[in-house]
Amino acid sequence: MKLHKAGTAAAAALVLALTATACGGDKSSAGGSDNGKITIGIKFDQPGLGLKKPDGTYAGFDVDVATYVAKELGYDAKDIVWKEAPSAERENLIANGDVKFVAATYTINDERKKKVDFAGPYFLAHQDLLVRADEKSITKAEDLNTKKLCSVTGSTSAQNVKDKLAPKADLQEFGGYSECLTGLENKAVDALTTDDSILAGYASQAEHKGKFKLLSLKLSDEPYGIGLKKGDTELQKKINDALTKMESDGSWEKAVTDNFGPANYKNEPAPKIDATS
Ligand code: GLU
Repeated sequence: MKLHKAGTAAAAALVLALTATACGGDKSSAGGSDNGKITIGIKFDQPGLGLKKPDGTYAGFDVDVATYVAKELGYDAKDIVWKEAPSAERENLIANGDVKFVAATYTINDERKKKVDFAGPYFLAHQDLLVRADEKSITKAEDLNTKKLCSVTGSTSAQNVKDKLAPKADLQEFGGYSECLTGLENKAVDALTTDDSILAGYASQAEHKGKFKLLSLKLSDEPYGIGLKKGDTELQKKINDALTKMESDGSWEKAVTDNFGPANYKNEPAPKIDATS
């Protein structure tokens, strides 16, 4: 009996020691939050959604959503460390614990759900095409089968082109959409495909005014979710609660107006936050 008690005490001490290690541990064991800071993955090159500005500050709808969510999780804006999350690296950043969560035009789908969990959806976009303003021979997705098309590695946009939209297109995949824009401007490619929300942001930038047109084809549904570590149902619930609050207190609508207003982008209404996403 005495021996058993001693064993229990030792086990309890061990648990305490392990807990202390986990709490004071390094960033990887804490999964993107430590020392009162939280690391969040966003895009750095998508105006209106996630943009690192020349002065080193960050702006966009995803930035506003992430800032709101972080606040609800107990972190002030000054405690956020922004990390670039290119399309092809989002799952790895989450799985490795480099970020606490990702808010980066990140479509919820079954393939990704094998590796990460999602909160949301908090926005609904649609795949679309951006072409040069004087382009006449591209009016629908099939027209791309004889054209040079640009998109991004690891995106649903590139996958949809290969699977169904235009399997014969000469598809060039880059690391980020901004790289495609230069190609579209200097005629290295004929079209750029991704979400209409992203394309509208590029088209409305002062330096691009009048150069491109968005075809508004609604080629797919792209429900954006907040990606988080697979199995962290507690965090998923907290983020879903934060998103629900953001939609009900008017902050979601304000973020939409602030960030998409300049691009004149007609967004879909706020989607219903679903804990099972
Ligand atoms: N929403 C799509 C996706 O998650 C396209 C935009 C992006 O690459 O971030 O793949």
